[in-house]
Amino acid sequence: MEPTPARDMLAKYGLAPSRRRGQNFLADGNVCRKIVAAVGAGPDDVVLEIGAGFGAITLGLAEAARLVVAVEIDAGIARAFRTEYGDLPGIELVEGDVLEFDLERAAREHGVERLLVAGNLPYGVTSPVVRNLIDARHAVSRAVLMVQSEVGARMVAAPGTSDYSALSVVLQYHAGVRQLFRVARTCFHPRPKVDSRVIEIDFRLGGAHRSDPEAFSSVVHAAFGQRRKMLRRSLSGRIERAGTTAAALEESCGIDLARRGESLSLDEFEALTLALATLDDRGRAGQNRKVV
Ligand code: SAM
Repeated sequence: MEPTPARDMLAKYGLAPSRRRGQNFLADGNVCRKIVAAVGAGPDDVVLEIGAGFGAITLGLAEAARLVVAVEIDAGIARAFRTEYGDLPGIELVEGDVLEFDLERAAREHGVERLLVAGNLPYGVTSPVVRNLIDARHAVSRAVLMVQSEVGARMVAAPGTSDYSALSVVLQYHAGVRQLFRVARTCFHPRPKVDSRVIEIDFRLGGAHRSDPEAFSSVVHAAFGQRRKMLRRSLSGRIERAGTTAAALEESCGIDLARRGESLSLDEFEALTLALATLDDRGRAGQNRKVV
């Protein structure tokens, strides 16, 4: 079954698209099919779809997967969806906020080790959605997400480029991330002000790291918080808290702290995090000795 175009659904159900909720619906069947193909769900897979809207990708996903759990926050849209597609097999519409959706629990309840995730994301929630996916990474195999073009560029950016940011480093630490294709703003209704990119985030390709993920993230955010500053400045608070000096840190990790965070590779950020943790431990041990 083909989904009814969003423009017709809006008219039929007397709904107006909400900007606040990022309601730019896909209006290009070819792009919908490309997203469904990129998700690549099979008959054993359970897919979490973020923001079902009027089913532009939901119906295609349901033809391939065992089940699509489609989350939609908008009550009017959810009602229209149920009226049109409520009888279709393989779709469970969940009316609610995806930011409150428990991915680990959903995987358990549906008897899969890992969910697939798909969505033409409401752009306002991209950051918290990505954070939640990272937190639930052991319950997610891959995510195929349409995001605002500039955010997509940051997700896949390499060191030394202007798009390289904390998002690039932290996401690439946890997953294999690549751009699948670009989507022009003309493919949506209503038309947004920016183009989009479809990004694949493969959590099965996240490296085996020796650093603590939270410590890593905090070092990365500190380094990019003051992007134009040298690492010895942007990490000064962190260095002080570890009870060490920039010189000791430099010697321990072999990274020149006159560099800026934007030039560091993932491995170098990890070396920095590990060195800080080691110096921190030594500092603590030293303090304990003094007390004794
Ligand atoms: N998948 C549909 C499509 O491609 O046409 C709709 C995509 S539209 C960009 C985003 C959808 O997410 C809207 O239907 C919107 O109501 C819904 N949405 C916005 N915020 C949400 C949230 N926090 N939780 C769940 N759905 C949300």
